[in-house]
Amino acid sequence: MREMDDRIKILSDMIAASSRIVAFTGAGISAESGIPTYRGEGGMWNRYDPNIYVNIDYFMRDPSYYWSLFHDVRYDVLRKARPNAAHAALARLEKRGKLTAVITQNIDGLHQLAGSRNVLELHGSTRKIYCLNCGARYTIDDVHELLKKSNPPPCPNCGGMLRPDVVFFGESLPEDTLARATEESENCDLMLAIGSSLVVYPAAWLPQRAKESGARLAIINRGSTPLDSIADVVISASAGEALNAVVPGGPDS
Ligand SMILES: [Zn+2]
Repeated sequence: MREMDDRIKILSDMIAASSRIVAFTGAGISAESGIPTYRGEGGMWNRYDPNIYVNIDYFMRDPSYYWSLFHDVRYDVLRKARPNAAHAALARLEKRGKLTAVITQNIDGLHQLAGSRNVLELHGSTRKIYCLNCGARYTIDDVHELLKKSNPPPCPNCGGMLRPDVVFFGESLPEDTLARATEESENCDLMLAIGSSLVVYPAAWLPQRAKESGARLAIINRGSTPLDSIADVVISASAGEALNAVVPGGPDS
């Protein structure tokens, strides 16, 4: 425990000394809000085959499988999920002018719900849905209503095919978002990698890029990562507890 306190102190000092912090977040931060993780025990991919569920070729052929899982499972999860202490701490850091961006692999929109403004969603957002034909945009509530009548749900505006604004398997990451994420990583003075095992591209690459560009690197994750050896501090703990300790709430929060 003593050692943990020391690490918390080290990270607190790093945050105090930094003015351009960037956070990189993965599934671990969302898991603390009740969003199931993908891999590992109890993960989504143990129950649903990602090669069908989030494969772009399959989706274009038969979107009903995606939408039935959305209707039966994901919608409720998204509606009930609330940002946790970790999301809130990052929003506080941004409000205090110390954090410039949150780069996330998550598609649940919880950073925005917590009040973060500059959120770079590398894999898009499952809360945003648009029509492939006319471009009209819809919320998850809209589509949940449409699904009560028809699956797949037709665009109310033109009858076209709807899709979530997420990156499916077989699609590349949005170029502009990745470019901005790279720029933020290269220009930060402290990179906080939170709740990611840092193995999936570009998860490993962006924090490494930050470190190579002269930033300090702090990793908060349950379980080791390939970047632990180059990190300035590694905290193996809950993201909520750790961030709450290093970013105390204040009158501004
Ligand atoms: Zn349309």
